[in-house]
Amino acid sequence: MTSSAIKLTVLPGDGIGPEVVSSALKIISAAGVRLEPDVQVAGAQAFQRGVESGVPADTIASVERTRLVLKGPLETPIGFGNKSANVTLRKFFETFANVRPVRELPGVKTPYAGRHIDIVVVRENVEDLYAGIEHMETPAVAQCLKIITRPGCEKITRFAFEYAMAEGRHKIHCATKSNIMKFTEGLVQHTFEDISKEYASIEARHILVDNAAHQLAMHPEQFDIILTTNMNGDILSDLTSGLTGGLGFAPSANIGSDVAMFEAVHGSAPDIAGKNLANPTALILSAIMLLRHVGEGNAASEIEHAVLVTLESGVRTGDMEGPRAASSTTEFTDAIISNLGKKSQLAKPREFERINVPPASKEVGHVNVTSRAVVGVDVFIESLEYPAQIGPVLQRHAKGTGVDLKVISNRGTAVWPELGHGTSLVDAYQCRFVGSGAVGADVTDAQILDLLQRISNSYRWVHIEKLQRFDGKDGFSKAQGES
Ligand code: NAP
Repeated sequence: MTSSAIKLTVLPGDGIGPEVVSSALKIISAAGVRLEPDVQVAGAQAFQRGVESGVPADTIASVERTRLVLKGPLETPIGFGNKSANVTLRKFFETFANVRPVRELPGVKTPYAGRHIDIVVVRENVEDLYAGIEHMETPAVAQCLKIITRPGCEKITRFAFEYAMAEGRHKIHCATKSNIMKFTEGLVQHTFEDISKEYASIEARHILVDNAAHQLAMHPEQFDIILTTNMNGDILSDLTSGLTGGLGFAPSANIGSDVAMFEAVHGSAPDIAGKNLANPTALILSAIMLLRHVGEGNAASEIEHAVLVTLESGVRTGDMEGPRAASSTTEFTDAIISNLGKKSQLAKPREFERINVPPASKEVGHVNVTSRAVVGVDVFIESLEYPAQIGPVLQRHAKGTGVDLKVISNRGTAVWPELGHGTSLVDAYQCRFVGSGAVGADVTDAQILDLLQRISNSYRWVHIEKLQRFDGKDGFSKAQGES
């Protein structure tokens, strides 16, 4: 029995959310943990009320007060309309670490049974393509910025190692696509390699994310912790859920330096909502993570044992295979409650210490360099002309500005001075200008503005990127085929 009640914000969410959240709360209460829930709204109900972010001010105020959230899934309109309320919550409270553990569970039939899968995906939760910075460059061309930062990489990497220490794990694979995206995914790999030196007792390996997917399907038991970016982690963690019984068994935690939010990996499953059919295990396991996070380790282990005993005794919801008739959400919940105090013979909860979460920094994150230079500029233009027509026009405009046209590319492939065979063109061109002055002389803002002014007489320019060098290293990629 806890001495004082745990204050938390409860977001029942959409679809099956209220059913699985209520199951978890009932079990926690039956285990003797006193909660003081502040029930709030987010997701579909908020969108219907016209709250664009999907997260009303009252909900934000509640989370600011409690700094602890148990949440059901929130619906997101797909492919149009509002932003995801889930992403809003994760970003607003800077819950930078998304922890998604899966393990083989007794009584849960999968093709991998007997291979002792026990994997945690630690997914960076606020950066990457999910920063949500998208633009239509032209009516035909969409762009999404992939933002990866050194401070963000350091924080999530340290978190992954601290998590490994807290759970007594021994190995971390960092999964990236650094062979293709050398700056963004490369930054993740390099930061991992740097920080891993501070944690000599933990084996640190890099793996390409496509190979990680293949290895997960072939030999999943080799993985312990997989540290990865937001998008990779979203996909890999659904894959790992599939290895161990499906979304009904996959819990998650969104952890920041200040706020922690616990939820199932699954969504609102509208097809079974309100029918008392949902499997509440994922949300219950998420609630167990919440209890461990606030220091209620004994209650957490008691509930975990009760879940394991229930599963190994063959009680199941409709999403699981099994010889016995499927139980409803409420029957399954009551079975767990009746098993509180019993110990599983087949599996046991992991020993767990509190995670040493990296503190929030009040500084503006940055990396110090000793030298920097601007060696050119990429100007992105919209045009229906062919590269052979655009090149001479831009060369003429550049004359006397202090920069020369070097290359024009289209969807990342060089198309001027030479147009490759079979390259399809769209109406968005990247035109690279480099300084024509003394080697090492900076291209100035005045030169760039002069160039833009001239280009705008012929073409609609969309945006620019300066070509920068930091400590003598190019901070920009070359187009495919650029020399
Ligand atoms: P989903 O809600 O996870 O459901 C996919 C399917 O998985 C369901 O149709 C159901 O399959 C099964 N399923 C998921 N959870 C289950 C459970 N607890 N018990 C039994 N079966 C379960 O994925 P979705 O259909 O792609 O997404 C629906 C909505 O949820 C979308 O609006 C999406 O944006 C949102 N979403 C929210 C979150 C979040 O809040 N964190 C996460 C993911 C998706 P059967 O057909 O076999 O019944």
